[in-house]
Amino acid sequence: MIVAKLIDTTTCIGCKACEAACQEWNDQDFGLGTYDGTYQTLPDLRHDFWNLIKFNEVTRDDGGLAWHMAKYQCMHCVEAGCLEACPAPGAIFRRENGIVDFDHDKCIGCGYCITGCPFDVPRLSPITQKVYKCNLCSDRTSVGLEPACIKACPTNCLSFGERGDLVQIAMDRAAELQAEGKALAGVYNPPGVGGTNVIYVLEDASRPESYGLPRDPEIPWTVRLWKGPLKWAGNAVFVGGILAAFFHYLRYGPKVSDDRAV
Ligand code: SF4
Ligand code: SF4
Repeated sequence: MIVAKLIDTTTCIGCKACEAACQEWNDQDFGLGTYDGTYQTLPDLRHDFWNLIKFNEVTRDDGGLAWHMAKYQCMHCVEAGCLEACPAPGAIFRRENGIVDFDHDKCIGCGYCITGCPFDVPRLSPITQKVYKCNLCSDRTSVGLEPACIKACPTNCLSFGERGDLVQIAMDRAAELQAEGKALAGVYNPPGVGGTNVIYVLEDASRPESYGLPRDPEIPWTVRLWKGPLKWAGNAVFVGGILAAFFHYLRYGPKVSDDRAV
């Protein structure tokens, strides 16, 4: 079963219970953020802070202000740029249930996954020189529990379950909002990365950027090149070199040093 998380931003109240639950379950410091004039806990994700409620302030059509609050974390992409970019075998892997997870013993700290992620999620720790991100509480979900953030949410705007079911629930919710007069309501499940295992319901799906979400995320072409044609070209050069050495040996035999004649 492929699992997913559904975030209904229309019922998020910005209480940050999910942030606190994430920090507590993953045994990470709360730390102190920089006050930048918003209610946001930190300006951005950190290697030791994997789940951030973004308080995006936007101007409504009538000139008033609104918060487009959105939970920001790893999207567990169906086509994951981090996984495509990683050169260390097994350092990033996909679990049977679709979760994209890290094996930190195998991470070499090169940071290629950071370049490969179209959502700008993984963060390099200056302490361990390894990269960290949300793993959708794979230690909890592997024993049948829901992720800590979902357990803590008091408004039930977060749900966890089978991906197909949640996509349907998201579409039904968007249709409900449209019937209430919110004509721009919709679902964020971007096709450029094959869809994501974190799906959003947005009141204004015509402007995903206003929730801090990229409009049309895709794996960078440099990553596709590095793992596609360039990899095969590299292999061809390597095999070609071995074959050239082999045929040279067949033709001329082992080289005898002239030093013996001196
Ligand atoms: S959001 Fe980034 S880190 Fe998470 S699976 Fe997608 S590419 Fe990887
Ligand atoms: S716990 Fe739920 S309501 Fe509270 S900030 Fe997180 S997502 Fe929003």
